[in-house]
Amino acid sequence: MKEWTDRPAPAAKTVSEARLMSVLNTAVDGIIVIDEHAHILVYNNACEKLFGYTAAEVLGQNVKVIMPRDYSDAHDRYMDNYKRTGHRKIIGIGREVRGRHKDGTEFPVELSVGEASTPDGRQFIGILRDLRSRKEAEQRVNELQADLVHLARVSAMDEMGAALAHELNQPLTAIMLYMQGIARTLDKRDDPADAQFKTVLAKAVHEAERAGNIISRMRQFVEKREPHRRPIDLNAVVNEAVELTIVGMRARVNIERDFAQQLPKAFVEPVQIQQIVVNLLRNASEALKDREDGTIFVSTRQDGAFVTIIVEDNGPGIPPAAMPTLFKAFSTTKKTGMGLGLSISRSIAQNHSGDLIVDPGGHGRGARFIVQLPVASREEETDAGL
Ligand code: ADP
Repeated sequence: MKEWTDRPAPAAKTVSEARLMSVLNTAVDGIIVIDEHAHILVYNNACEKLFGYTAAEVLGQNVKVIMPRDYSDAHDRYMDNYKRTGHRKIIGIGREVRGRHKDGTEFPVELSVGEASTPDGRQFIGILRDLRSRKEAEQRVNELQADLVHLARVSAMDEMGAALAHELNQPLTAIMLYMQGIARTLDKRDDPADAQFKTVLAKAVHEAERAGNIISRMRQFVEKREPHRRPIDLNAVVNEAVELTIVGMRARVNIERDFAQQLPKAFVEPVQIQQIVVNLLRNASEALKDREDGTIFVSTRQDGAFVTIIVEDNGPGIPPAAMPTLFKAFSTTKKTGMGLGLSISRSIAQNHSGDLIVDPGGHGRGARFIVQLPVASREEETDAGL
Protein backbone atom coordinates (compact mmCIF):
# COMPACT_ATOMS: atom_id res chain seq x y z
CA MET A 1 0.00 0.00 0.00
CA LYS A 2 1.33 3.40 -0.94
CA GLU A 3 0.86 6.40 1.30
CA TRP A 4 1.09 9.95 0.09
CA THR A 5 2.12 12.75 2.38
CA ASP A 6 4.10 15.90 1.84
CA ARG A 7 6.23 15.85 4.91
CA PRO A 8 9.62 14.33 5.41
CA ALA A 9 9.59 12.99 1.88
CA PRO A 10 9.98 9.24 2.11
CA ALA A 11 12.53 7.90 -0.30
CA ALA A 12 9.95 5.73 -2.04
CA LYS A 13 7.84 8.72 -3.10
CA THR A 14 8.11 9.73 -6.73
CA VAL A 15 8.32 13.32 -7.92
CA SER A 16 4.88 13.16 -9.49
CA GLU A 17 3.37 11.84 -6.25
CA ALA A 18 4.95 14.66 -4.29
CA ARG A 19 3.59 17.16 -6.81
CA LEU A 20 0.13 15.65 -6.60
CA MET A 21 0.22 15.81 -2.83
CA SER A 22 1.20 19.47 -2.82
CA VAL A 23 -1.73 20.19 -5.14
CA LEU A 24 -4.10 18.29 -2.83
CA ASN A 25 -2.74 20.25 0.10
CA THR A 26 -3.70 23.57 -1.45
CA ALA A 27 -7.37 22.47 -1.67
CA VAL A 28 -9.76 24.21 0.70
CA ASP A 29 -11.88 21.06 0.99
CA GLY A 30 -10.78 17.95 2.84
CA ILE A 31 -9.62 15.19 0.51
CA ILE A 32 -9.25 11.59 1.63
CA VAL A 33 -8.35 8.56 -0.46
CA ILE A 34 -8.99 5.09 0.94
CA ASP A 35 -8.31 1.62 -0.39
CA GLU A 36 -10.76 -1.28 -0.66
CA HIS A 37 -10.24 -2.10 3.01
CA ALA A 38 -11.08 1.48 4.05
CA HIS A 39 -7.49 2.26 5.00
CA ILE A 40 -6.51 5.89 4.57
CA LEU A 41 -3.93 6.48 1.80
CA VAL A 42 -4.24 10.22 1.34
CA TYR A 43 -5.22 12.80 3.92
CA ASN A 44 -4.62 16.42 2.92
CA ASN A 45 -3.91 19.51 5.03
CA ALA A 46 -7.54 20.65 5.02
CA CYS A 47 -8.43 17.32 6.69
CA GLU A 48 -5.93 18.01 9.44
CA LYS A 49 -7.77 21.23 10.25
CA LEU A 50 -11.16 19.59 9.93
CA PHE A 51 -10.56 16.52 12.07
CA GLY A 52 -7.66 17.53 14.33
CA TYR A 53 -5.56 14.44 13.46
CA THR A 54 -2.26 14.87 11.63
CA ALA A 55 -1.69 12.87 8.46
CA ALA A 56 0.94 10.82 10.31
CA GLU A 57 -1.65 9.80 12.90
CA VAL A 58 -4.25 8.50 10.47
CA LEU A 59 -2.45 7.28 7.35
CA GLY A 60 -2.90 3.54 7.11
CA GLN A 61 -5.74 3.58 9.65
CA ASN A 62 -9.34 2.64 8.94
CA VAL A 63 -11.31 5.73 7.86
CA LYS A 64 -13.68 5.01 10.76
CA VAL A 65 -11.42 7.14 12.99
CA ILE A 66 -13.02 10.28 11.60
CA MET A 67 -16.60 8.97 11.72
CA PRO A 68 -19.08 9.05 14.59
CA ARG A 69 -19.04 5.72 16.38
CA ASP A 70 -22.70 4.95 15.61
CA TYR A 71 -21.95 5.25 11.90
CA SER A 72 -18.66 3.42 11.63
CA ASP A 73 -20.15 -0.13 11.66
CA ALA A 74 -22.61 0.86 8.99
CA HIS A 75 -19.67 2.09 6.90
CA ASP A 76 -18.07 -1.39 6.97
CA ARG A 77 -21.38 -2.87 5.83
CA TYR A 78 -21.73 -0.30 3.00
CA MET A 79 -18.23 -1.08 1.76
CA ASP A 80 -18.83 -4.87 1.87
CA ASN A 81 -22.20 -4.51 0.24
CA TYR A 82 -20.84 -2.31 -2.54
CA LYS A 83 -17.95 -4.67 -3.23
CA ARG A 84 -20.33 -7.64 -3.45
CA THR A 85 -23.29 -6.10 -5.28
CA GLY A 86 -21.99 -2.89 -6.89
CA HIS A 87 -25.01 -1.18 -5.32
CA ARG A 88 -24.15 2.53 -4.81
CA LYS A 89 -25.33 4.34 -1.74
CA ILE A 90 -23.08 7.37 -1.93
CA ILE A 91 -20.51 6.94 -4.72
CA GLY A 92 -21.09 9.50 -7.43
CA ILE A 93 -24.00 10.98 -5.48
CA GLY A 94 -22.67 12.77 -2.45
CA ARG A 95 -24.60 13.58 0.66
CA GLU A 96 -24.55 15.24 4.03
CA VAL A 97 -22.90 13.12 6.73
CA ARG A 98 -21.40 13.67 10.15
CA GLY A 99 -17.68 13.74 10.87
CA ARG A 100 -15.90 13.27 14.19
CA HIS A 101 -13.08 15.49 15.37
CA LYS A 102 -10.17 14.09 17.39
CA ASP A 103 -11.67 15.76 20.49
CA GLY A 104 -14.88 13.76 20.00
CA THR A 105 -17.10 16.58 18.71
CA GLU A 106 -19.29 15.70 15.75
CA PHE A 107 -20.18 18.10 12.96
CA PRO A 108 -21.98 18.09 9.60
CA VAL A 109 -19.95 17.65 6.42
CA GLU A 110 -20.92 17.37 2.81
CA LEU A 111 -19.24 14.30 1.36
CA SER A 112 -18.88 13.41 -2.29
CA VAL A 113 -17.20 10.16 -3.20
CA GLY A 114 -15.62 9.03 -6.44
CA GLU A 115 -14.04 5.74 -7.38
CA ALA A 116 -10.82 5.00 -9.25
CA SER A 117 -9.26 1.73 -10.26
CA THR A 118 -5.50 1.81 -9.90
CA PRO A 119 -2.73 -0.73 -10.35
CA ASP A 120 -2.94 -1.13 -6.56
CA GLY A 121 -6.65 -1.99 -6.70
CA ARG A 122 -9.83 -0.02 -6.26
CA GLN A 123 -9.60 3.29 -4.40
CA PHE A 124 -12.22 5.73 -3.21
CA ILE A 125 -11.72 9.47 -3.16
CA GLY A 126 -13.79 11.49 -0.71
CA ILE A 127 -14.11 15.26 -0.81
CA LEU A 128 -15.34 16.76 2.42
CA ARG A 129 -16.72 20.23 3.01
CA ASP A 130 -17.35 21.63 6.47
CA LEU A 131 -21.04 22.56 6.73
CA ARG A 132 -20.92 24.18 10.15
CA SER A 133 -20.83 27.79 9.02
CA ARG A 134 -23.50 27.19 6.37
CA LYS A 135 -25.71 25.45 8.96
CA GLU A 136 -25.20 28.26 11.43
CA ALA A 137 -26.11 30.84 8.80
CA GLU A 138 -29.25 28.87 7.89
CA GLN A 139 -30.22 28.64 11.53
CA ARG A 140 -29.63 32.37 11.99
CA VAL A 141 -31.82 33.16 8.99
CA ASN A 142 -34.55 30.94 10.44
CA GLU A 143 -34.28 32.66 13.81
CA LEU A 144 -34.35 36.09 12.23
CA GLN A 145 -37.38 35.16 10.20
CA ALA A 146 -39.13 33.84 13.30
CA ASP A 147 -38.27 37.10 15.09
CA LEU A 148 -39.62 39.13 12.20
CA VAL A 149 -42.81 37.10 12.12
CA HIS A 150 -43.15 37.63 15.84
CA LEU A 151 -42.44 41.33 15.56
CA ALA A 152 -45.11 41.79 12.94
CA ARG A 153 -47.54 39.82 15.10
CA VAL A 154 -46.89 41.98 18.13
CA SER A 155 -47.19 45.18 16.18
CA ALA A 156 -50.38 43.93 14.54
CA MET A 157 -51.94 43.30 17.89
CA ASP A 158 -50.38 46.33 19.52
CA GLU A 159 -48.48 46.00 22.72
CA MET A 160 -51.23 48.06 24.31
CA GLY A 161 -53.75 45.39 23.40
CA ALA A 162 -51.56 42.67 24.90
CA ALA A 163 -51.18 44.63 28.13
CA LEU A 164 -54.92 45.22 28.26
CA ALA A 165 -55.60 41.54 27.75
CA HIS A 166 -53.36 40.77 30.67
CA GLU A 167 -54.95 43.37 32.92
CA LEU A 168 -58.52 42.42 32.04
CA ASN A 169 -58.06 38.76 32.68
CA GLN A 170 -58.17 38.98 36.46
CA PRO A 171 -61.31 41.14 36.96
CA LEU A 172 -63.07 39.05 34.34
CA THR A 173 -62.30 35.83 36.17
CA ALA A 174 -63.53 37.43 39.40
CA ILE A 175 -66.82 38.53 37.76
CA MET A 176 -67.36 35.01 36.50
CA LEU A 177 -66.76 33.48 39.92
CA TYR A 178 -69.19 35.93 41.61
CA MET A 179 -71.87 35.17 39.06
CA GLN A 180 -71.37 31.44 39.38
CA GLY A 181 -71.65 31.84 43.16
CA ILE A 182 -75.03 33.60 42.80
CA ALA A 183 -76.18 30.95 40.30
CA ARG A 184 -75.36 28.19 42.80
CA THR A 185 -77.25 29.99 45.61
CA LEU A 186 -80.31 30.40 43.39
CA ASP A 187 -80.12 26.71 42.46
CA LYS A 188 -80.11 25.70 46.11
CA ARG A 189 -83.02 28.02 46.98
CA ASP A 190 -85.07 26.39 44.23
CA ASP A 191 -87.66 29.20 44.07
CA PRO A 192 -89.75 29.26 40.84
CA ALA A 193 -89.77 33.07 41.05
CA ASP A 194 -86.00 33.01 40.34
CA ALA A 195 -86.39 31.41 36.92
CA GLN A 196 -86.02 34.70 35.07
CA PHE A 197 -82.92 35.71 37.09
CA LYS A 198 -81.37 32.35 36.36
CA THR A 199 -81.83 32.80 32.62
CA VAL A 200 -80.32 36.27 32.68
CA LEU A 201 -77.46 35.08 34.88
CA ALA A 202 -76.68 32.18 32.53
CA LYS A 203 -76.50 34.66 29.66
CA ALA A 204 -74.19 36.94 31.65
CA VAL A 205 -71.88 34.01 32.48
CA HIS A 206 -71.87 33.01 28.82
CA GLU A 207 -70.87 36.54 27.74
CA ALA A 208 -68.13 36.74 30.37
CA GLU A 209 -66.80 33.39 29.13
CA ARG A 210 -66.82 34.68 25.59
CA ALA A 211 -64.83 37.75 26.65
CA GLY A 212 -62.40 35.43 28.47
CA ASN A 213 -61.97 33.34 25.32
CA ILE A 214 -61.22 36.41 23.23
CA ILE A 215 -58.59 37.49 25.73
CA SER A 216 -56.92 34.10 25.88
CA ARG A 217 -56.84 33.92 22.07
CA MET A 218 -55.19 37.34 21.96
CA ARG A 219 -52.58 36.25 24.46
CA GLN A 220 -51.87 33.03 22.55
CA PHE A 221 -51.49 34.97 19.34
CA VAL A 222 -48.94 37.36 20.79
CA GLU A 223 -47.03 34.72 22.77
CA LYS A 224 -43.69 33.70 21.30
CA ARG A 225 -43.61 29.97 20.68
CA GLU A 226 -41.56 27.46 18.73
CA PRO A 227 -43.26 26.91 15.40
CA HIS A 228 -44.74 23.42 15.29
CA ARG A 229 -46.39 22.16 12.11
CA ARG A 230 -49.09 19.55 12.45
CA PRO A 231 -52.30 18.42 10.70
CA ILE A 232 -54.79 21.19 11.42
CA ASP A 233 -58.49 21.82 10.84
CA LEU A 234 -58.23 25.12 8.97
CA ASN A 235 -61.87 26.04 9.47
CA ALA A 236 -61.38 26.36 13.23
CA VAL A 237 -58.10 28.24 12.83
CA VAL A 238 -59.55 30.69 10.30
CA ASN A 239 -62.64 31.20 12.42
CA GLU A 240 -60.51 32.12 15.43
CA ALA A 241 -58.52 34.57 13.33
CA VAL A 242 -61.77 36.21 12.20
CA GLU A 243 -63.00 36.53 15.80
CA LEU A 244 -59.68 38.00 16.76
CA THR A 245 -59.75 40.58 13.99
CA ILE A 246 -63.30 41.64 14.73
CA VAL A 247 -62.18 42.63 18.23
CA GLY A 248 -59.47 44.93 16.84
CA MET A 249 -61.48 46.46 14.00
CA ARG A 250 -62.30 50.12 14.26
CA ALA A 251 -64.56 50.43 11.25
CA ARG A 252 -67.81 48.52 11.20
CA VAL A 253 -67.36 45.96 8.46
CA ASN A 254 -69.44 42.86 7.79
CA ILE A 255 -67.60 39.59 7.66
CA GLU A 256 -69.32 36.69 5.91
CA ARG A 257 -67.95 33.21 6.45
CA ASP A 258 -68.43 30.22 4.21
CA PHE A 259 -66.38 27.25 5.39
CA ALA A 260 -66.27 24.04 3.33
CA GLN A 261 -67.73 20.98 5.03
CA GLN A 262 -65.39 17.99 5.40
CA LEU A 263 -62.30 19.98 4.61
CA PRO A 264 -59.17 17.77 4.76
CA LYS A 265 -56.60 18.76 7.37
CA ALA A 266 -53.71 20.99 6.30
CA PHE A 267 -50.14 20.45 7.52
CA VAL A 268 -49.36 23.85 9.04
CA GLU A 269 -48.27 25.89 12.03
CA PRO A 270 -51.65 27.31 13.09
CA VAL A 271 -50.53 30.61 14.62
CA GLN A 272 -48.60 31.54 11.47
CA ILE A 273 -51.65 30.79 9.35
CA GLN A 274 -53.74 32.95 11.65
CA GLN A 275 -51.24 35.70 11.11
CA ILE A 276 -51.80 35.52 7.35
CA VAL A 277 -55.57 35.65 7.80
CA VAL A 278 -55.38 38.54 10.27
CA ASN A 279 -53.13 40.47 7.84
CA LEU A 280 -55.51 39.89 4.94
CA LEU A 281 -58.55 40.85 7.00
CA ARG A 282 -56.93 44.04 8.27
CA ASN A 283 -55.93 45.05 4.75
CA ALA A 284 -59.44 44.35 3.51
CA SER A 285 -61.07 46.31 6.32
CA GLU A 286 -58.74 49.26 5.67
CA ALA A 287 -59.66 49.15 1.98
CA LEU A 288 -63.32 49.31 3.06
CA LYS A 289 -63.09 52.10 5.59
CA ASP A 290 -64.96 54.66 3.43
CA ARG A 291 -67.77 52.33 2.46
CA GLU A 292 -71.15 51.99 4.13
CA ASP A 293 -71.76 48.45 2.91
CA GLY A 294 -68.19 47.15 3.29
CA THR A 295 -68.17 43.36 3.40
CA ILE A 296 -65.37 40.82 3.62
CA PHE A 297 -66.01 37.25 2.45
CA VAL A 298 -63.87 34.57 4.07
CA SER A 299 -64.13 31.04 2.77
CA THR A 300 -62.26 27.74 2.77
CA ARG A 301 -62.17 25.17 -0.02
CA GLN A 302 -60.29 22.10 -1.14
CA ASP A 303 -58.48 22.58 -4.43
CA GLY A 304 -56.62 19.39 -5.45
CA ALA A 305 -53.63 18.87 -3.17
CA PHE A 306 -54.28 22.22 -1.48
CA VAL A 307 -56.64 23.54 1.11
CA THR A 308 -57.32 27.17 0.27
CA ILE A 309 -58.41 30.15 2.33
CA ILE A 310 -60.00 32.93 0.29
CA VAL A 311 -60.33 36.48 1.58
CA GLU A 312 -62.27 38.79 -0.70
CA ASP A 313 -63.74 42.25 -0.19
CA ASN A 314 -66.03 44.61 -2.06
CA GLY A 315 -63.61 47.55 -1.91
CA PRO A 316 -61.84 49.38 -4.75
CA GLY A 317 -59.34 46.59 -5.51
CA ILE A 318 -55.53 46.89 -5.49
CA PRO A 319 -54.29 50.13 -7.06
CA PRO A 320 -52.61 49.08 -10.38
CA ALA A 321 -49.50 51.08 -9.45
CA ALA A 322 -49.10 48.94 -6.30
CA MET A 323 -49.29 45.60 -8.15
CA PRO A 324 -45.66 45.12 -9.34
CA THR A 325 -44.24 45.43 -5.81
CA LEU A 326 -47.26 44.20 -3.87
CA PHE A 327 -45.46 41.27 -2.20
CA LYS A 328 -42.17 43.12 -1.70
CA ALA A 329 -41.23 44.18 1.81
CA PHE A 330 -41.77 47.85 2.67
CA SER A 331 -44.06 48.57 -0.26
CA THR A 332 -47.19 50.31 0.98
CA THR A 333 -49.72 52.86 -0.19
CA LYS A 334 -50.68 53.76 3.38
CA LYS A 335 -49.29 56.65 5.37
CA THR A 336 -48.81 54.52 8.45
CA GLY A 337 -48.31 51.16 6.73
CA MET A 338 -45.09 49.16 7.07
CA GLY A 339 -45.64 47.30 3.81
CA LEU A 340 -44.65 44.04 5.48
CA GLY A 341 -47.98 42.23 5.82
CA LEU A 342 -48.24 40.72 2.36
CA SER A 343 -44.54 39.99 2.04
CA ILE A 344 -44.48 38.09 5.34
CA SER A 345 -47.78 36.38 4.56
CA ARG A 346 -46.51 35.11 1.24
CA SER A 347 -43.23 33.87 2.69
CA ILE A 348 -45.11 32.02 5.44
CA ALA A 349 -47.34 30.36 2.83
CA GLN A 350 -44.36 29.48 0.63
CA ASN A 351 -42.40 28.11 3.60
CA HIS A 352 -45.33 25.76 4.06
CA SER A 353 -44.92 24.63 0.41
CA GLY A 354 -47.99 26.64 -0.46
CA ASP A 355 -48.49 30.13 -1.86
CA LEU A 356 -50.40 33.39 -1.56
CA ILE A 357 -51.87 34.65 -4.81
CA VAL A 358 -53.96 37.69 -5.63
CA ASP A 359 -56.66 38.72 -8.02
CA PRO A 360 -56.39 42.53 -7.82
CA GLY A 361 -59.99 43.28 -8.81
CA GLY A 362 -60.74 46.91 -9.70
CA HIS A 363 -63.54 48.26 -11.95
CA GLY A 364 -66.13 47.67 -9.28
CA ARG A 365 -64.59 44.48 -7.92
CA GLY A 366 -62.63 44.23 -4.68
CA ALA A 367 -59.33 42.41 -4.14
CA ARG A 368 -59.31 38.65 -3.69
CA PHE A 369 -56.44 36.86 -1.91
CA ILE A 370 -56.05 33.09 -2.03
CA VAL A 371 -53.86 31.25 0.48
CA GLN A 372 -52.91 27.76 -0.71
CA LEU A 373 -51.70 25.27 1.88
CA PRO A 374 -50.81 21.61 1.43
CA VAL A 375 -53.29 18.92 2.51
CA ALA A 376 -51.72 16.82 5.31
CA SER A 377 -50.53 13.48 3.93
CA ARG A 378 -51.62 10.23 5.55
CA GLU A 379 -48.11 9.78 7.01
CA GLU A 380 -48.18 13.27 8.53
CA GLU A 381 -51.53 12.47 10.14
CA THR A 382 -50.19 9.16 11.45
CA ASP A 383 -46.94 10.74 12.69
CA ALA A 384 -48.97 13.28 14.61
CA GLY A 385 -50.78 10.38 16.28
CA LEU A 386 -54.13 11.28 14.77
P1 ADP B 1 -49.41 47.57 4.57
O1 ADP B 1 -50.77 47.07 4.93
O2 ADP B 1 -48.56 47.88 5.75
O3 ADP B 1 -49.41 48.67 3.55
P2 ADP B 1 -49.20 45.11 3.08
O4 ADP B 1 -48.00 44.38 2.53
O5 ADP B 1 -50.11 44.32 3.95
O6 ADP B 1 -48.63 46.35 3.85
O7 ADP B 1 -50.05 45.70 1.88
C1 ADP B 1 -49.40 46.38 0.81
C2 ADP B 1 -50.36 47.23 0.00
O8 ADP B 1 -51.28 46.39 -0.71
C3 ADP B 1 -51.25 48.16 0.80
O9 ADP B 1 -50.58 49.35 1.09
C4 ADP B 1 -52.43 48.36 -0.12
O10 ADP B 1 -52.14 49.37 -1.08
C5 ADP B 1 -52.52 47.07 -0.92
N1 ADP B 1 -53.62 46.18 -0.47
C6 ADP B 1 -53.50 45.08 0.29
N2 ADP B 1 -54.69 44.49 0.49
C7 ADP B 1 -55.61 45.23 -0.17
C8 ADP B 1 -57.05 45.14 -0.38
N3 ADP B 1 -57.76 44.15 0.16
N4 ADP B 1 -57.63 46.08 -1.16
C9 ADP B 1 -56.89 47.08 -1.71
N5 ADP B 1 -55.57 47.22 -1.56
C10 ADP B 1 -54.91 46.33 -0.79
